[in-house]
Amino acid sequence: MLAVRDVTVAFDGHRVLDHVSLTAEAGEVVALLGPSGSGKSTLLRVIAGLIDPDAGTVSIDGQDVTHLPTHRRGVGLVFQDEQLFPHRDVGANIAFGLRMQGVDRATQTARVDELLALVGLPGFARRAVTELSGGESKRVALARSLAPRPRVLLLDEPLTGLDRELHDRLAGELADILRASGTTAVLVTHDREEAAAVADRVVTLDGADSVVVELTAAETHDLRRAVLRTGTPSDEVVLPGDDDPATVHLGLRDDRGRVVATSTWRPRPAPHDVGGGGAAAVQLRMMATDPALQGTGLGGRLVEAGVAWAFSRGADVVWANARDTAVDFYRRHGFDVVGASFVTESTGLPHHLVVRHRPR
Ligand code: ADP
Ligand code: MG
Repeated sequence: MLAVRDVTVAFDGHRVLDHVSLTAEAGEVVALLGPSGSGKSTLLRVIAGLIDPDAGTVSIDGQDVTHLPTHRRGVGLVFQDEQLFPHRDVGANIAFGLRMQGVDRATQTARVDELLALVGLPGFARRAVTELSGGESKRVALARSLAPRPRVLLLDEPLTGLDRELHDRLAGELADILRASGTTAVLVTHDREEAAAVADRVVTLDGADSVVVELTAAETHDLRRAVLRTGTPSDEVVLPGDDDPATVHLGLRDDRGRVVATSTWRPRPAPHDVGGGGAAAVQLRMMATDPALQGTGLGGRLVEAGVAWAFSRGADVVWANARDTAVDFYRRHGFDVVGASFVTESTGLPHHLVVRHRPR
């Protein structure tokens, strides 16, 4: 299983990835979708160990690999313009990673045959790579990356630039091959249809150009209801103070303008003394992210945006009544847990007071 937590990467002071999180369960194929320049390749390079993130962690099968070199992570990589070694035959190309690992010859040969069968090219081991068609080359590149049994396979736009017919055929084959081999994979693409065709789950990286926007209270209601009031004793999502002029609703929209994440920030003293929590304190409440986009870092962006807003208007403290399941998320964003657990009437769920103080 792959877990990327709150990864931030800046180039020349410009944040390309801002608190991005992503998970892939064992055997799950996750597509990472986003416009050009949204940081997809950068995120893959962080997972692969080719870029050191400024903050955040990467773990694979429970092991923190954030500071391990690429060759010790057990990741496989496939790029768009994947080059096969032209002077080696198909079999030697596929066996390359195994040879690097010091695997014996008989095992190499058996594994090559297994992979050629998997990618639908049985008997191709002695072929020259220069004789392969475009589609066959792609399949050999895939076989080469799968041969060492990577714990996670990372594919960066592997099918981009192919003509439509070949693209669609290979997308179907790729889906079948990843399923058949039980590979945990992250597929980067800017093509929605390809993502849906290949992956079990699609997550979007919304890109630096999607900015946190102010919403009206009414614009927050659908997401609040769907995410926070499903299966709870109360389905009430309109809170007192929502229309107060001092309250702000911060959110994110997707590329079609749909509200995909919301948060509400209301100047209000904390329920008990949390230190510096006077009149200028701000409560964060009713934060909700579209279930399809959970784990992609949208909530983290809203927290950081709202906290910055609260501190800039003079608050010393931002606080929230956090569901216990969300407490770790708040901790990662600099909040402390204060006091004992309590159950709220509207949800029937255990909560804790969490508090973030303005840095001195
Ligand atoms: P995507 O793969 O989604 O198209 P990238 O991850 O390649 O996006 O790039 C995201 C942004 O980061 C782009 O604006 C790109 O110019 C910038 N970028 C990527 N790599 C570097 C680098 N090594 N140095 C400076 N800027 C970079
Ligand atoms: Mg890219």
